[in-house]
Amino acid sequence: MLAKLDPEDRKVVAEALAKAEKTEAQLRYIADHDSLTGLLDRRRFRSELDQFASFTARYGGQGAVMIIDIDGLKAVNDSLGHHAGDILIRRIAGIMRERVRTTDIVARLSGDEFAVLMPQSDTAGALQLGEDLRAQVAESAAASEAGGATISVGITMFGGEREVGAEAILVAADQAMYRAKEDGRNQIALFQDPREPQRKQDRRQTTTARIRDALTHDRLSLHTQPIRSLASGGIERYELLLRMTGENGELLPAASFIEAAERSGMVQELDRWVVAQALELLASRERSGDPVSLHVNLSGASVADLSVLEFIERRLDEGEADPARCTFEITETARVHDYEAAGGFADRLTEFGCQVAIDDYGAGFGPFHYLKQIPFDLIKIDGSFVRDMPNSDADQLTVQAIVQIARGLGKTTIAEYVQDDTTAEMLREYGVDMAQGYHLGRPVDVTEAL
Ligand code: GH3
Ligand code: MG
Repeated sequence: MLAKLDPEDRKVVAEALAKAEKTEAQLRYIADHDSLTGLLDRRRFRSELDQFASFTARYGGQGAVMIIDIDGLKAVNDSLGHHAGDILIRRIAGIMRERVRTTDIVARLSGDEFAVLMPQSDTAGALQLGEDLRAQVAESAAASEAGGATISVGITMFGGEREVGAEAILVAADQAMYRAKEDGRNQIALFQDPREPQRKQDRRQTTTARIRDALTHDRLSLHTQPIRSLASGGIERYELLLRMTGENGELLPAASFIEAAERSGMVQELDRWVVAQALELLASRERSGDPVSLHVNLSGASVADLSVLEFIERRLDEGEADPARCTFEITETARVHDYEAAGGFADRLTEFGCQVAIDDYGAGFGPFHYLKQIPFDLIKIDGSFVRDMPNSDADQLTVQAIVQIARGLGKTTIAEYVQDDTTAEMLREYGVDMAQGYHLGRPVDVTEAL
C-alpha cells in the first residue's frame, strides 16, 4: 500500500506508523512495569518465569529464583512517613538493578516484595548474588540518615529432571524467604526440602500463638497519639494504638499482627483488652481532676459481635469513666462486612453516651452508603488523601468534598497522616476541625503521655 503513494505522502504515513508503534511500545511498557521502580511487574515476571521454566524442562539446564522482602517497611512508614518508605523501595530496586547480571530479570512483585530470575545459574551463583544484595542493602541502610532497612532473601533452584511450573517455583522461593524472616531477617535462605511449603502455615500459627502468649503474659501495651485542634493547636483527644512486644523485645505495631488476629478470631479479645485499659485510664484521669478524651479502634469483627458490645456496656456500668470522653473508631473499609450490624452497634454506643468516629473514611468501597448506615459523630479522613495532599489536586478536592459533607451533616472532621505545616495549613483553610500525624505528635507510650 505504501508503494502506491507519492514520496511525500509515503513519508507522512511512515511517520504516523512509527509514532503509533512508539505509542504502542510505550503503552506496553507502562502495562508491564511498576511505576514506582520501573521494574517489571508480577504479571510480566510470571510470564517470563513460565517461559523459562518450560524451556529448561524441555532442553535441560537450570535456573534460580530469588524472592526479596524488605524487613520492617511498615516501621519505616510509621516512623518516617510513607514517602520515606517509597524512597527506600526505590533505593533497594536500584541496588538490585545494579548488581544483577544483564541476563537476570528483576521485578517488583508487590508492595515491598521483589523477585529475581537467574537463568542458567547454579546454587553457588544464586547464593552469591543473594548475599551480595543483602550486604549492599544492609550497608546502604547503615549509611543512610533518612533511615534504611535490611532485606530477607529466599532462593529456590529449578530445572533438572523434575518439571515445575512458575507458581510452584514462586511458592518455594516464598517459603525460603519466610524462613529467612523467621531466622531473624537480614538473611538469605535456600529452599531444598520438599516439605518446606508447610512452613507458611506454621508462620501463621506462630503469630497466633504469639498473640495468645501476649494476651496471657501481659505483653500488650498502648501508645497514644495526640489529635489536635487545627484552630488552636491544642490537644483535644488522644488515639490509643495497640502494640505487642515481640520475641526479641521489639515493639510491634498493630498492623503487623492484626490480620493474623482477625484470621484466627482473636481480634475481639484484643479489642476487649484495649477497651478495658481505655476505660480505666479515663476513670483514673477523671479522679485526678485532669480528664482526657480517648479514641479506641474497633476491628470489623468486633463491630458485628454482640458480646463485645455487652462487654463495653458492662465496663461502662461498673467503672467510673465518663462515656462522653470515649470515642470508638469504626473503620470504613472492606473489613466491616455487615453494615446493618455495624449500624446497630454504633447506635448502641451512642445510647451508652459514647461517640462514634468513622475511621479510614474514603478508603473503602461504599463511603456514601456507609454514612447512611452508621450513626456517627466524627469522620476521620483517610491518610491516603492527606499524605501527599499539597501535590495532588485530586486529594485536595476529595478532602474538601468530605469536609463539605461532614459539615452539612453537622459532624466533626479529623485528618490523619499530617506530615508538614503546609498540609496542616491547607486543612485548616478547608475547615477540617482536628488533625493528627507525625508533624503534630508522634505516638508515644501511654505512661509517658498520660
Ligand atoms: P517484615 O519484616 O515482616 O517484612 O515486615 P514489614 O513491615 O516489611 O511488613 P510486610 O512485608 O508484611 O508488609 C509490607 C508493608 O510495606 C505493608 C505496607 O505498610 C508497606 N508498603 C507496601 N507497599 C508500599 C509502598 O508502595 N510504599 C510504601 N512506602 N510502603 C509500602
Ligand atoms: Mg516486608
